[in-house]
Amino acid sequence: MSTLVFNPSECVRTVTKFSECTKCVDICPVDTLTIADNNLPAFVPSACVDCGGCMGVCPSESFKLKDFDATEFFFEFAADSSPLISCRVNVPCIMALSIEHLMSLALVKEQPLILDIGHCGTCPYKEPLYANILKSVEEANYLLEAIESGKQIRVEEIAAQEQGVAVDVDQSDRRAFLERLSLKGAVKAKAEFEATLDAVSDEIREHEVGLAEIAKLRQKRLPDKRKILFTALKRAPKPEQYHTIAEEDISFASQKFIDMQTCTNCQMCYRICPTGALSSDANNSKIYFDAMMCIKCRACHDTCEPDSLQLQPTFELKEFFEPTQRLLASFKLVRCDECGVHFASLHGERVCPRCRVEEEEAFELWGLEERDGTVVFREDDDESESHQGH
Ligand code: SF4
Ligand code: SF4
Ligand code: SF4
Repeated sequence: MSTLVFNPSECVRTVTKFSECTKCVDICPVDTLTIADNNLPAFVPSACVDCGGCMGVCPSESFKLKDFDATEFFFEFAADSSPLISCRVNVPCIMALSIEHLMSLALVKEQPLILDIGHCGTCPYKEPLYANILKSVEEANYLLEAIESGKQIRVEEIAAQEQGVAVDVDQSDRRAFLERLSLKGAVKAKAEFEATLDAVSDEIREHEVGLAEIAKLRQKRLPDKRKILFTALKRAPKPEQYHTIAEEDISFASQKFIDMQTCTNCQMCYRICPTGALSSDANNSKIYFDAMMCIKCRACHDTCEPDSLQLQPTFELKEFFEPTQRLLASFKLVRCDECGVHFASLHGERVCPRCRVEEEEAFELWGLEERDGTVVFREDDDESESHQGH
């Protein structure tokens, strides 16, 4: 039985129904993850092979394996003398580690980080995990080089199991291997107990968003992997020169701008941003953005109706060392002629958007229209035609 746990309050699909994120679904090698009718990821625990691929790619850390905690692994591995990461030694699959974890580990380790891909060739879950491991390493190495860290991650066909680095393992059954590996004895015992309970009914596990999740959603949260990266970057020497890279060369952070011609100051982007990368002042007259708090989950882009929030085509790596909060938009505040509440007047409007909507609804309901600056009853087309006929 899988020890995978999904936390709906972390998933960006919970913060906005417009989110198109399917990273977890796309990486799953056994296709057990799907997007359910309630718009959230769901999976069948008996089909999950506990590879942790979904954990590694989820921008907001919505998944956890009960017997592998990537944050704990980072600190344990950083203190360990070995530079080797292998699915037969210390991780369920290399893909359980995010690019931020890989970069951070490479930065804090004295020796070059070595990833053992010696078992990938015979792994039943090679597709799509192996290609994604190589992609993650490529991005991590590119960034490590771009910040002039002098660190690189090595990918080697060591096959730790054959080299006798770890216990003998039945390769055909990853879960049995993980059980024997016993990364965390006490946690595992608890997981087994819960798995026994789960085994009673092993249907697709869907997740509802209850009151507790809603309360959590209101709290902005930066994923642990980002805090780890900050810690690692603090220890790294600053490059002689700050480089700028292309937007598509970094998958976990971004820089943005707002098209002020089309932005309606609807406030949705910073209200739904799960990390607080997008924020506003108390009057909602400004929109700020902090690139290093952004996890590139795209929730803000997927939600912005007029498409006003845009990715900058480049990313300045100076943000890694000197994070800044930038002003993306500033709106002129005026007092609404109807309700007296302050609102951002974009094109000289005197009535706030809420009063405008109410006014439109009232006009519709009562059959009114404005003619020559005066509110009059609308003439029904049929009626006016029949009047003309008499
Ligand atoms: S742990 Fe692996 S097998 Fe299980 S749902 Fe996630 S990606 Fe799929
Ligand atoms: S935020 Fe994470 S859990 Fe939610 S759909 Fe995206 S990858 Fe899956
Ligand atoms: S600003 Fe970044 S973290 Fe916030 S919603 Fe947009 S993409 Fe996600």
